[in-house]
Formats: sequence, structure tokens, C-alpha cells
Amino acid sequence: MYAAGEKPGEGSYVCTMCHLEIIIENDGEELPRCPDCRATFYNETV
Ligand SMILES: [Zn+2]
Repeated sequence: MYAAGEKPGEGSYVCTMCHLEIIIENDGEELPRCPDCRATFYNETV
């Protein structure tokens, strides 16, 4: 699991609360808070 503010690297991540997908396009980009539900935890998608 990843938290908002971490830089988990390029990939797609899914909000643990509402399952919104967030795309991270470069390794220096931080995970934002979920724009839909303001949750701060994500799971990496495979
Ligand atoms: Zn969410």
C-alpha cells in the first residue's frame, strides 16, 4: 500500500476507498490525495 505524498514511481494506483485510478507518469511525481474522496491510501495495480 502507498500513501499520498510518497513517490512510488511510474505506474497506476487505485484508491483504497473509492477505487479511482491515479496514473503516475514519472518517478519524481508524488501521489496526490484522491480527488474524489480525499483518501490518502492506494494500492498498486497489476
Ligand atoms: Zn478515492
